[in-house]
Amino acid sequence: MSKTQSRMTRQRRVILEELCKVNTHPTADEVYTMVKGKLPNISLGTVYRNLDLLAENNQILKLETAGNTRRYDANIEPHSHVRCLSCGKVLDIPYIDTSKLDLKGDCLKDFNYMNVRVEIDGICADCAEKEKH
Ligand SMILES: [Zn+2]
Ligand SMILES: [Zn+2]
Repeated sequence: MSKTQSRMTRQRRVILEELCKVNTHPTADEVYTMVKGKLPNISLGTVYRNLDLLAENNQILKLETAGNTRRYDANIEPHSHVRCLSCGKVLDIPYIDTSKLDLKGDCLKDFNYMNVRVEIDGICADCAEKEKH
């Protein structure tokens, strides 16, 4: 399949539209549930494929987190994420700039790093509130 093909299929357009409506960073399974009303014949595999294509075209972000479920984000402005260890939801926070970190000290002198990822895990306000009761 050609990557230069810019005409979006209806399926891909619907997936992008639905993803733009939420800021919950859904998994592919959740996106599948979200689009099924409009695309009753779509398969989970097609949802995966379209999400990956949208991410390749920089129309959405694919979130890389330590957990092995991939999540998708229609907000492509630079921003960072926090993940709730209790309910698993991923929230936006202002961008954390790692480009100024100097890791070339003792720990990384023999390793050419290319990419630094900040992961912030914790407990969200909703879950913290629930624990109080
Ligand atoms: Zn939570
Ligand atoms: Zn986000």
